[in-house]
Amino acid sequence: MTIEGSVKFIYETKTSGHRQYHEAYPDMIDDQTITMEVPSTEMNVYQHFNLFNSFLRAVGFDELTIMRGATGLAFSDMRKDEDMRKVADEHDIMMSEEHDRIVSDLQKEILNLTAKISRLENPNNPNYTDEEMDAMTAWDGLVPGSPSAIASGCKCPVMDNEEMPEDRKWVNGDCPIHGKVK
Ligand SMILES: [Zn+2]
Repeated sequence: MTIEGSVKFIYETKTSGHRQYHEAYPDMIDDQTITMEVPSTEMNVYQHFNLFNSFLRAVGFDELTIMRGATGLAFSDMRKDEDMRKVADEHDIMMSEEHDRIVSDLQKEILNLTAKISRLENPNNPNYTDEEMDAMTAWDGLVPGSPSAIASGCKCPVMDNEEMPEDRKWVNGDCPIHGKVK
């Protein structure tokens, strides 16, 4: 069964009888009606929005304003964060709240790489290098093998680390939190 139907947008302006308007815009045409109509059969949401985009263009909105309107519809206080994040991901858009996390991740990555370089430069240093210490400090205070670290996904040894001082913890290379240093 095919459903018959159409989508119709109508924009009407009634300017006849407004003397002031006529004095201000003598060349304007009175009482315009702009109608845009398409058969709605099997039109998807993007086609609907495309039609509305054309309609908005026809009644005088510019591209940028239309884009702002559409984006404002998708990203507003009325939307669920989760949904907005989905849409943002689909369009490679970065939500501003993600920036802090990304910056923090990059800073940790820099610290980890710096620590690795320091280890390569001092392969026989029996102690942690300053750079390794810096990288460890960046572990958000999560001590390898500690209960709070394990709760956050740490895969470092637990028993072996219990007796170890804070700056002499064993680190598992597979640990997502601590494993990057060495
Ligand atoms: Zn760990």
